[in-house]
Amino acid sequence: MANNANNALNNEKAAAARKKLIKTGGIGAAVSFFAAFALILTGILLTVNKITAAGIVCIVIGALGFIVFAVFLIMLLIGVFMVAGGAGAKVLDTTSVCPACGTQYFVNDKDCPSCGTPRQGK
Ligand SMILES: [Zn+2]
Repeated sequence: MANNANNALNNEKAAAARKKLIKTGGIGAAVSFFAAFALILTGILLTVNKITAAGIVCIVIGALGFIVFAVFLIMLLIGVFMVAGGAGAKVLDTTSVCPACGTQYFVNDKDCPSCGTPRQGK
């Protein structure tokens, strides 16, 4: 932690990355889930009376669609966990203050958020 301007920049970048992960993951997961579901349903309907090549192709592509869905879902979950982690880091630790400047630490701080003095025991 070099200085406050750096921290603010990193926080902004991290927030933008989280937003992108959640947006891309959420849209991708929703679109791929419905596309895969529709493809498999079509495939089942096409093969229910007679096995057809088109039906098999639909089911195979639909199954691959669920793999794509899983990847987007993981992206979404990583974004959500990053938000949860970021929120957790902002909880004030009421049990200790910086011995150098008296600023109260946040729970996950390793250095003083104000003067950068390394925190004892962390
Ligand atoms: Zn301090």
